[in-house]
Amino acid sequence: MSITGTDIERARQLLGRGKLVAIPTETVYGLAANALDTKAVLSIFEAKNRPTFDPLIVHSYSLEAIRDFVAEIPEQAVLLAEKFWPGPLTLLLEKKALISDLVTSGLSTVAVRVPDHPLTLQLLRSLSFPLAAPSANPFGYISPTTAQHVVDQLGSKIEYVLDGGPARVGIESTIVGFPAGVPTVVRLGGLQVEDIEAVIGEVKTTLHSSSNPMAPGMLKSHYAPRLPLHLLDREEMESAKPTDATGFLFFQKPAHFDTYPQARCLSETGDFREAAFRLFASLREMDQLPVREIWAEKLPDRGLGRAINDRLLRASVRNADSIHE
Ligand code: AMP
Ligand code: MG
Repeated sequence: MSITGTDIERARQLLGRGKLVAIPTETVYGLAANALDTKAVLSIFEAKNRPTFDPLIVHSYSLEAIRDFVAEIPEQAVLLAEKFWPGPLTLLLEKKALISDLVTSGLSTVAVRVPDHPLTLQLLRSLSFPLAAPSANPFGYISPTTAQHVVDQLGSKIEYVLDGGPARVGIESTIVGFPAGVPTVVRLGGLQVEDIEAVIGEVKTTLHSSSNPMAPGMLKSHYAPRLPLHLLDREEMESAKPTDATGFLFFQKPAHFDTYPQARCLSETGDFREAAFRLFASLREMDQLPVREIWAEKLPDRGLGRAINDRLLRASVRNADSIHE
């Protein structure tokens, strides 16, 4: 039997037996297990080779369903959930006891989200439990945006990949917590901070400042390709001499694009959404090129550009070098 397909019933049965199933979402593919079954959750960490200090996101099909496993929901969280769910927004809320410490890495909050994908929503509605699911990639490597990416890297470790096509958004969710009641973005992602602020007013942004892993997906080195990646601004990229040894990942297409032996561009017209959609697949593709390193162009630092820059920075050499600071 093929490991990929669109058989929701098969996914439902496997998950009910404590097995791992990769699920499509609009952000990236997730590696899912029954969030209320500690043994099943443990196998997520094992399959990904993920340290247990990096907590998981719990997925369900509605805000109402999520009330069963969180203790309280601040008013601003309700406003955001009502506006953006299903969608690329994860909320950090105080957990109830039925969510184990393994899921939250011992934190009192649990990360929750309603993903916007018809297959996965249908699956979640058919289950009597929520799904714990981090991205379906080996820990630290580029996140998967197609079923094939998952098969390529974790195919031997999971029972089934529910194939929902390429992830529409292409980068992970934006994570918002409420420490001391203050709405705080702790991971940039597929929902722009500007859109969040349009609903609840100005929010704090506290991204990682060190390799402190208690902040979400905020390890300094993450999303990383095999090849060394350098992040450069547009002028540096445009004045770089074309060479066989370097793969160039442009944001927008430069005038002399065709003179580079190995180059890709995320969006010819400079569209942030298209760039996010293509980011991880492009990084994977470039990682396979016969080059020694990748030079990537920094995007304008606003909207989704900020979230994409965050991924590129974590994928970059500068960060990997300083991870043990
Ligand atoms: P992934 O789905 O692979 O991006 O992983 C989920 C991310 O959510 C991880 O990087 C976690 O660090 C983050 N996360 C999950 N739960 C919490 C929490 N309670 N507090 C802070 N971050 C969290
Ligand atoms: Mg991840």
